[in-house]
Amino acid sequence: MTNKLTAVTFDVVDFATPGDAYPMKFCSDCAHPVSLEIPPGDHLPRHVCPACGAIHYQNPRIIAGCIPERDDKILICRRAIEPRYGFWTLPAGFMENGEAVEQGAAREAQEEALADVQIGSLMAVVNVLHSNQVHMLFRAKLNNLDFGAGSESLEVKLIHPSEIPWADIAFGSIRFALERYIEDRTRGLERLHFHTIP
Ligand SMILES: [Zn+2]
Repeated sequence: MTNKLTAVTFDVVDFATPGDAYPMKFCSDCAHPVSLEIPPGDHLPRHVCPACGAIHYQNPRIIAGCIPERDDKILICRRAIEPRYGFWTLPAGFMENGEAVEQGAAREAQEEALADVQIGSLMAVVNVLHSNQVHMLFRAKLNNLDFGAGSESLEVKLIHPSEIPWADIAFGSIRFALERYIEDRTRGLERLHFHTIP
């Protein structure tokens, strides 16, 4: 199984439009056109509003997800949305304000796979620099077999790790998490892994 893991090269595509920033033309406070400049005391250019003085900081977003497992199988989802429509992934998505990251991971499992999960240990933190995201993936227990395709999924299935469709995995972070998950599970470990995608 492990020799398969290194055989496939991966085309890095991620959850949001890649880029060094989310473009901003107008101030969200007063609608005046913003300019890009380094505010006093800062060290990076920010969108600054010359009219009302607002400084619009942009910082990485967190993607929360999990690997739901039941007996010797894991739950994977086939995407019904772009990017990577039709490719396989784990339930994961943008955290909402006001929730903890493990709550976000459980919510995404519910939304994308209609799955009731119990979030376990954190297994992967992946910095995705090209899309300004941090992906946090947890181990999880699938509480029952009452799951199905949510609105963002074409198909959801429970598979043995030997059945993972490696050539059709949607994202580099998911691939990384699956690889480490399998290595750890084979050795009876629950480690935390860090990775950075340029
Ligand atoms: Zn303004």
